[in-house]
Amino acid sequence: MKYVHAPDLKERMTDIAKTLDMFHLEIDRIECLRSFGSSSRITIARCHALGKLMQKAMKTNAFYAIEFLERFEKLSRKEQDKVIIHELMHIPKSFGGGFRHHDYVCERNVELLYQKFENLKKSRRFFN
Ligand SMILES: [Zn+2]
Repeated sequence: MKYVHAPDLKERMTDIAKTLDMFHLEIDRIECLRSFGSSSRITIARCHALGKLMQKAMKTNAFYAIEFLERFEKLSRKEQDKVIIHELMHIPKSFGGGFRHHDYVCERNVELLYQKFENLKKSRRFFN
C-alpha cells in the first residue's frame, strides 16, 4: 500500500464541513490521503482514528484520517461529495477518537446532508 497526502480533497472536505456548520470537526486534526494498491473492490473510502489508548500513550488528542481508495476517482463529483460527507459523519460530536456507525451514517442521512450542502452552495452563490 502506498499513501499520498491529498490537499485537494482536504480542501473539499473543509468546504463541506464549513458549509454544513459541522463545528465539532477540528479541521486541522483531520487529514485526507489517497491510497494505492488496495485489493478491496468494494471500499471507496475509510475513516481512521487515533484511538483513546494511543492518544494517552502519545500524550496527544484525537486525530482522524480519511483514506480515499483508487475507486473514488472514478465517481462523479456528486458521488464523491457524498462519500466525503459519509466519512465526515463517522466522526462523532465528541471528536474523541471513536466512530459513529452505519445506523446513523446511512444512505438516507447522507442524502439529507448532501441536499442541504447543495442548497447552501446555491444560496451562497446567489447572495455573494
Ligand atoms: Zn461508512
